[in-house]
Amino acid sequence: MTRLLTLSLALAAAFGAHAQDYPSKQITLVVPFTAGGPTDRVARDLAEALRKPLPGATIVIENVAGAGSSIGAAKVARAAPDGYTLLINHIGMSTLPSLYRTLPFKVETDFEYLGIVNDVPMTLIGRPDLPANNLKELLGWINQNKGKINLANAGVGSASHLCGLLFQSAVKTEMTPVPYKGAAPAIADLMGRQVDVLCDQTTNTTSQIEAKKVKAYGVTTKAPLTTPALKSLPTLASSGLPNFEVTVWHGLYAPKGTPAPVIAKINSAIKTALKDPEFIKRQEALGAVIASDQRIEPAGHKQFVQAEIAKWSPIIKAAGVYAD
Ligand code: ASP
Repeated sequence: MTRLLTLSLALAAAFGAHAQDYPSKQITLVVPFTAGGPTDRVARDLAEALRKPLPGATIVIENVAGAGSSIGAAKVARAAPDGYTLLINHIGMSTLPSLYRTLPFKVETDFEYLGIVNDVPMTLIGRPDLPANNLKELLGWINQNKGKINLANAGVGSASHLCGLLFQSAVKTEMTPVPYKGAAPAIADLMGRQVDVLCDQTTNTTSQIEAKKVKAYGVTTKAPLTTPALKSLPTLASSGLPNFEVTVWHGLYAPKGTPAPVIAKINSAIKTALKDPEFIKRQEALGAVIASDQRIEPAGHKQFVQAEIAKWSPIIKAAGVYAD
């Protein structure tokens, strides 16, 4: 008994010392999608903004892509709970549990929640030579091409997969899903005319829309966006697809068991990073909105994810899609 007590006191002291020094070595931020895509972009901008509040820290991005973010998330769930391996993930944290029959981790119990970073609208876009120039024309084109339409996504469980499911259900047409390991290769193939349609975050699509490298049909928010490059796009909900609304959020996670003082340090650093004018400017130019509510707190973040799981699970069940 006394031995046990001594051991736990020693462990507590070790962790305490750890937390005080944190960070004293390189932090790996796992991005569960390919480099150059929207999650990767948010991660790299955030890593830059975290430098000031975590002086001396080197934050290295590791892209562990595949299976709609579940491979990267599983890697972090199994990592040492010391604050040196973190995960950034999006809405997939709330859709993966419904979309996969078996997941190699439990979203609600295998992670510490560190805070939500931002909300990002999505856009419905098409290959540059698609004959349709607006949503009405796209719906007509879809009707004429049933059975022949390829819909790209970033893997089962990704945001683009979810948006694609909503889109197919809204237009009552099944399309052939073309899964990638991230939205960067998906949009590259869309621009290269290999696939027809993609729904993806504005953090990935804004510059391609602006450069007219893709056709843009609408945004997935309730109200039109104010970002200069996107403000002329109508909402999908107001242009023939009622209730078509989805917003992608990103949050940070650590393996379960990461010491509370380390979690508090990271959370405080995130809060500072979210006020960084350069970070705000970059995010806003790409249509993202910086989180500013109780979701930045670990408890608020967890509650929000639980609410999102409850929101999306019946929608996904009704769509009847599963992956193994
Ligand atoms: N935006 C992608 C998705 O569809 C993932 C990514 O590459 O960041 O979820």
